[in-house]
Amino acid sequence: MLGNDYQGQDCALARALEVVGERWTLLIIRDAFYGVQRFSDFHTHLDIPRAVLTERLNALVTAGIFDKAPDPAHAGRHQYVLTARGKDLWPALHGLLTWGSRHCADNSLVFRHCACGTALDDNGTCRHCALTPEPADIYTEPRASRSTARTDRVAAALRSPHRLLEPLATG
Ligand SMILES: [Zn+2]
Repeated sequence: MLGNDYQGQDCALARALEVVGERWTLLIIRDAFYGVQRFSDFHTHLDIPRAVLTERLNALVTAGIFDKAPDPAHAGRHQYVLTARGKDLWPALHGLLTWGSRHCADNSLVFRHCACGTALDDNGTCRHCALTPEPADIYTEPRASRSTARTDRVAAALRSPHRLLEPLATG
């Protein structure tokens, strides 16, 4: 089996990929920016085997990307919340989303600056305010020209404007 490290590579990119380079990991982190915190919500939105999701979440906790805490609403369950180290992945994630939109297919969501409602440019900057907002100052809304094929409760919750990092109400 292939390992997930790049011991021979003396490069910060290799170190970053050791943390976020596994299949599904960046999509889990994307969902966390969208406000997903519960195992069951990651599971329903990503359609990945529970064992794989468990392994990825545990690895992200170990790597300091997520804090794992008891879920106050469900005894015995946990929620996963991005740490400062995890939130610092936003520019990289936004950069990849931008690349995908430019070269593959438009993202189903657009990102806007909370203070003024202006859509962020490809660099993640609000040109109206001439600043690059933190994730907590960004909200998503569906792209008007593009519908999503997904019907799960996370996708349904993201059909309304939603501030990044705020827990997503999935019922
Ligand atoms: Zn703005």
